[in-house]
Amino acid sequence: MDLTLTDEQQKFREYAREFLDGEVVAHRMEWDRAESVDTAIIAKLGDMGFFGLTIPEEYGGLGGDYISYCVGMEELGRADSNVRGIVSVSMGLVGKVILSHGTEEQKRHWLTKIATGEALACFGLTEPDTGSDAGNLKTRAVREGGGDYVLNGQKMFITNATWADVCLVFARTGEPGPKGVSAFLVPTDMPGFETREIKGKLGLRGQATGEVYLTDVRVPASARLGEEGQGFSIAMHSLDKGRVSVGAGCVGIIQGCLDSVVDYSTQRRQFDRPLASFQLIQDMIADISVELDAARMLVYRAADLIERGEPFGVAASKAKYFASEAAVRAANSAIQIFGGYGYIDEYPVQKYLRDARVMTLYEGTSQIQKLLIGRAETGVNAFL
Ligand SMILES: Cc1cc2nc3c(=O)[nH]c(=O)nc-3n(C[C@H](O)[C@H](O)[C@H](O)COP(=O)(O)OP(=O)(O)OC[C@H]3O[C@@H](n4cnc5c(N)ncnc54)[C@H](O)[C@@H]3O)c2cc1C
Repeated sequence: MDLTLTDEQQKFREYAREFLDGEVVAHRMEWDRAESVDTAIIAKLGDMGFFGLTIPEEYGGLGGDYISYCVGMEELGRADSNVRGIVSVSMGLVGKVILSHGTEEQKRHWLTKIATGEALACFGLTEPDTGSDAGNLKTRAVREGGGDYVLNGQKMFITNATWADVCLVFARTGEPGPKGVSAFLVPTDMPGFETREIKGKLGLRGQATGEVYLTDVRVPASARLGEEGQGFSIAMHSLDKGRVSVGAGCVGIIQGCLDSVVDYSTQRRQFDRPLASFQLIQDMIADISVELDAARMLVYRAADLIERGEPFGVAASKAKYFASEAAVRAANSAIQIFGGYGYIDEYPVQKYLRDARVMTLYEGTSQIQKLLIGRAETGVNAFL
């Protein structure tokens, strides 16, 4: 197995890093304090092709491979997880399922705009009472005489909600449980579609996270993505790939922590010596370095399976579980190495910790990933 990036993938990393250093890293602390990125970054990311990394050229994307996609998510995660999440959700969770499950009309109408950043998408699965247990969601879509669907319900913790042009809403059209769920592409300017931003988050402060309220939102049948009853499997298909994005973003966080601690510990002196000369400091740096390699290999393996068209769900769960937990450990150690300076926002490590913390929660918590991995190993389904 060759883990070396091709020249093209390596050039893409350099191109992405140069752009992100100037346009994102330079502003990330200011955005964090303001609790919002400058949304002008969305169009700039679109111009650079970030929203179309693996989307075919005929739909406005770059048609790139999945390892390049992970390299892009890594660089975005290293720069600012707020920005990585905007791209991962719009293109990764929504754009890609329009590509795999959408009609030609849906691809021409939405995907071409999502792939260029002209339109932003959000993914509406979680509800106030159903997070991990998403198959029991309560939002309803009732079809009127074989025509339009009328949607009613509430969604919770939706990334991009207040900025998005379209929301992929999962709603119940049939029986209780996962088999009664369908998916709809709902334009956010429809009457009855309202959002409220959630403030006061521990991390990802620059990203819009919102509640979505659907009150008699009427959409035509052509807004349904896939068949009736296929919504839950569409959501799971989307999240399997999304977990690779989150894992790659976490690799970026760990890389950012490693770069920061190497820089700081070789310059900061105590007892007339650089911090890096103390073995207890090297112990922490060595752990970050090893976990970085392990996380990256798990992520690239999942990406390689996607690229080959092979089953990748369990590999994605392992990558997401390990990389997210390792990102929290790396950022925590990075603060320790920075001492008191790690606790203030003059340096990025405290932001890395705050942003990393949610990665073990969203797109399936660490416990849910372990249940998926355990199910694959034992054949016993803990969800039934
Ligand atoms: C910043 C942010 C952004 C988000 N963005 C989105 C988004 O764009 N779209 C979207 O749909 N959702 C989004 N979410 C929601 C996220 O996916 C959920 O928070 C997550 O799935 C967990 O659901 P919950 O918060 O309801 O926790 P719960 O499901 O209530 O879980 C609480 C605890 O119980 C554990 N638990 C639950 N079930 C089991 C079990 N069977 N066995 C063992 N332990 C269990 C969990 O692991 C967790 O530790 C976002 C959340 C946040 C915080």
